[in-house]
Amino acid sequence: MSIRVENINKKFGDFVALDNISLELPEGQLTALLGPSGSGKTTLLRIIAGLEQPDSGSIAFYGKDQTDQHVSERGVGFVFQHYALFKHMTVYENVAYGLTVKPRKERPSKAEIHKKVMSLLELVQLDWTANRYPNQLSGGQRQRIALARALAVEPKVLLLDEPFGALDAKVRAELRRWLRKLHDEIHVTSVFVTHDQEEALEVSDRIVVMNQGRIEQEGTPDEVYEQPATPFVYGFLGSVN
Ligand code: ADP
Repeated sequence: MSIRVENINKKFGDFVALDNISLELPEGQLTALLGPSGSGKTTLLRIIAGLEQPDSGSIAFYGKDQTDQHVSERGVGFVFQHYALFKHMTVYENVAYGLTVKPRKERPSKAEIHKKVMSLLELVQLDWTANRYPNQLSGGQRQRIALARALAVEPKVLLLDEPFGALDAKVRAELRRWLRKLHDEIHVTSVFVTHDQEEALEVSDRIVVMNQGRIEQEGTPDEVYEQPATPFVYGFLGSVN
């Protein structure tokens, strides 16, 4: 079982953003969509999420077609580049948010929410920030909270769009380790958009290299590193011969 993307096409006016993309994203794995700016990574992620409609093609999660499912029905968690934490809510309230807005029938009790939120805050080692506000935290800490918040609703699919792009190199490296650790502890299928080859190699189980709306290569980090199929990957590795 997996996420299946079949024959996805997307144009903006005459511009072909996605040119017949088909992909299988294995369950429980962290797949990086790697490619230069403008290659269609974010558009593909948004289509998987249901935030954008393809012109044609289909998306299925674990055998269930999602084409007509609204974003709110797909069971996806998001982490974006610019931390979308609610400024006027505490860290605790931010992480709890997705649970408190569930329909009454599915909503956990207050005690269950407390247990879940505190266990996630412990997992990202930020339980001591529970009563603080986002502006009292560093950028890296906020992204760890954003990860905890995305995971609170136990998403079937976790989608990350350049989540560490706004941070400096040292914090980025630290957050890659956090993402990997969380991914290994919580069973979720993740898709991670990045233009940073090193990030893709370090964090992911699988890499899908995109260029100009097409898939140029798919493989494990070792396969992509050892036999890069594209000038993009060569360029980033700095080994052209
Ligand atoms: P990436 O994430 O790889 O940088 P995107 O998926 O954001 O690439 O964009 C792919 C191409 O589609 C870019 O050339 C971008 O300008 C174009 N594009 C994306 N969204 C829109 C839109 N809503 N309207 C027009 N063009 C768009």
